[in-house]
Amino acid sequence: MWQKIISIINEHEKFVITSHINPDCDALGSELALATHLRAMGKSVLIMNSDPVPPNYWFIDRKNKAKRFHKNSKHLRKLDEAEVIIVVDASGGWERIGRVGQKLSESKAIKICIDHHPDPVDFVDVAVVDTDAAAAAELIYSLLVEMGATFTPHMAQALYTGIMTDTGGFRFPKTSPRTHQITAELLTHGADPLFIYKQIYEQSSAVRLRLKGHVLSSIETAADGQIAYYSLDQKTFKEHNIEFGQLNGFAGLGQEIKGVRVTIYCVEASPNRVKISLRTDGSVSINQLAIEYGGGGHPSAAGASAEGQVDEVIVELVKKVTYLLTETKTETTSP
Ligand code: 5GP
Ligand code: MN
Repeated sequence: MWQKIISIINEHEKFVITSHINPDCDALGSELALATHLRAMGKSVLIMNSDPVPPNYWFIDRKNKAKRFHKNSKHLRKLDEAEVIIVVDASGGWERIGRVGQKLSESKAIKICIDHHPDPVDFVDVAVVDTDAAAAAELIYSLLVEMGATFTPHMAQALYTGIMTDTGGFRFPKTSPRTHQITAELLTHGADPLFIYKQIYEQSSAVRLRLKGHVLSSIETAADGQIAYYSLDQKTFKEHNIEFGQLNGFAGLGQEIKGVRVTIYCVEASPNRVKISLRTDGSVSINQLAIEYGGGGHPSAAGASAEGQVDEVIVELVKKVTYLLTETKTETTSP
């Protein structure tokens, strides 16, 4: 499975590693662990994303290795010099990579994709997309083992964080024996679960926690309690002194309610642009709905960025999900 990619890595010197817009811990952890090993091999490696590392994830990138792309001559030259581009945790095409993707799509470099999302697009030369993997970090771990990498505590920490967050703390459907075998290995290489847990789940500012309280008290339900939905407009989160980038972690809140199968969470990213997050309990798939809105994701966790007013988008989504649940009910009850 990895032989082609390993040959390409062995035969080249200059690498650019990238991932999706608004990088999460799986994207960053995968990038950082892979880059560390490639550097240990003596390669020149640049991690270049369209968006910056959110402050709450700085702990896995203490040396600020994951750069935010600026269209200046230095960055453009570095991207032009790349011999190999490796995209991790994204397989939906260059658009999913954002501004840097647009630039990289024009590059003559060999393009590789390593991902675990469904519905991959044919946009690179070599792809390993394994939708059974719970996180891209699982795949990067396998690749690194195959390459005989030495795992530093920093690499172990980065990969463990990616797996822990993408599995929602080892509970989402793709959490497998393999997931636990890998994380067990990562613990032996120096990942510290308590430290990571604290960094991810216990660093909220008081204002963010208050905003979470606001979100919790605004949750509405529909379809006899099978849908939970809520939204945030710019005015509200700005009043709470919160940046858009600090709003992750709210998408799963609706799922805490007994009987809820689908949660719809919408944020007004900018005037007329809505960031949609969808979550399910696994009894219904919502990634097709996300695709309808120009996004994608996994069957039980998907998202999109759509045009429109937040209030209108959420009303439309509630209607669509209600219909989807009626359909699934009919399917499952029919002989
Ligand atoms: P979240 O709701 O946390 O932003 O994203 C949940 C899942 O949906 C993630 O696996 C992410 O990859 C996917 N996702 C979120 N937004 C988009 C989007 O705009 N486009 C695509 N293709 N996938 C998205
Ligand atoms: Mn992922």
